[in-house]
Amino acid sequence: MGDEEVMTDIARKELRSYKQLPQIWYQIAPKFRDEPRPRSGLLRVRQFMMKDSYSFDIDAAGLDVSYKKHYEAYCRIFDRCGLKYMVVEADSGAMGGKESHEFMVRTPAGEDQIVSCDGCDYAANMEKATSNLEAWGDLAPEGDGKPLPVHTPGQKTIEDVAKFLGVSPKNKIKTLAYMAEEKDRAGKTSKLRPIVVLMRGDHQLNEAKLNATAGTLPRPMEEGEIKALFKSPAGYLGPLGIEWARDSKKDSDKPVLLVDKALEGRANLIAGANKEDYHLKNLTPGKDFHPTAYADLRSVTAGEACPNCGKPLRIDTAVEVGHIFKLGYRYSESMGLRVLDKNGKEVMPIMGCYGIGIERILTAAVEQGNDNDGFWLPTTIAPFEIVVAPVNVKDEAVRNAAEDIAKRLVAAGFDVVLDDRDERPGVKFKDADLVGIPFRVTVGKKVTEGTVEVVLRETREVRDVTISAIVEHFQGVLRRAG
Ligand SMILES: [Zn+2]
Repeated sequence: MGDEEVMTDIARKELRSYKQLPQIWYQIAPKFRDEPRPRSGLLRVRQFMMKDSYSFDIDAAGLDVSYKKHYEAYCRIFDRCGLKYMVVEADSGAMGGKESHEFMVRTPAGEDQIVSCDGCDYAANMEKATSNLEAWGDLAPEGDGKPLPVHTPGQKTIEDVAKFLGVSPKNKIKTLAYMAEEKDRAGKTSKLRPIVVLMRGDHQLNEAKLNATAGTLPRPMEEGEIKALFKSPAGYLGPLGIEWARDSKKDSDKPVLLVDKALEGRANLIAGANKEDYHLKNLTPGKDFHPTAYADLRSVTAGEACPNCGKPLRIDTAVEVGHIFKLGYRYSESMGLRVLDKNGKEVMPIMGCYGIGIERILTAAVEQGNDNDGFWLPTTIAPFEIVVAPVNVKDEAVRNAAEDIAKRLVAAGFDVVLDDRDERPGVKFKDADLVGIPFRVTVGKKVTEGTVEVVLRETREVRDVTISAIVEHFQGVLRRAG
């Protein structure tokens, strides 16, 4: 039983009336994952602590409120933890919900690819990401403007054909053939459904988008299947002269033609002619052939324009630290959760589900701030904010000053560790660099002048600070009232 089911089961026993709603229940508990072996360092492990919560509302408007509360609370939590995170619009289709957001931290060790913008807060996973394409000019019609066969001997790839005809791949159609296996209720393959996808010549199909559009993950069609179905050699498949399904549900005996949105409104394109060594010019979608549907099927690439602000998009790997999604009626329906509404009528509460991987906050912080010598933690989650390091504990003036500084900083409410080991300064500095303490106070010869060095671990920036003003200094940089 998943935690959603456990919570729904409790709700089934506890919730009777609309008057009890809304409810938000949370727990902090260990979770286990069946990993053959841990990967990505400490990011993927078999056991981890999870904060998860569940909301129950009387209607969708109530769920919107609970969802927004979590969204904002999660932003505050990750802000306070000092994480540089992105809020990513995600697809929650697999979980049966509708709206979903992931809180992601960029790191090369991450498992997910995220498209984001430095100019605004746009961020989306590859499955959801879009971009604004630069307009590209259509070719002028040739001849009488009707589909025109051209001899393209031996030219199969998009690039070859474009070069051969002296046009850009952006004026070409890329034709991809897939086979979807429709399953019957027993889960057996009951039917094969051909799906042909048209993309702009230079664009890449995103399989997750195709999967979401087709409702199943189709496999590439085999050459023999293409020949049998479309009477076309595999390298020369095109959309003309094939009777496509007008409606993917009603015309279930006909192949589906999905055309990427980037081709909508384009004219005089070039595609395969379903004949060896021939292509067709003057092809206009919606006029010369009729797509079953237009859909966003394209993979965004780095450098394309942000759909919000137009700045270049970037693509990075990232790790998820939090996830919120609307479960909708999935569990209340399947498990029979009902409450009485104002009129005494039984209604289904609507649910949301929200989670934070607690240790991931720490591991993501380490991934976010590290170099060859170790790492630095945001001050809010660092076990110690300041390490006080006397360079020579045998020097009484140095030792006394270090002890005094540490004592005053502790009294002011800072988390301080005093490294009073009898070690060489190099050893102490190396250890301090290694363990993530964001600030180091080096107490050395300048004690006689009444100053010490404060080192910011992240940038290694060094500042001389007057010993008498050390508490005020940290109150300033760590923004504390003392
Ligand atoms: Zn932007």
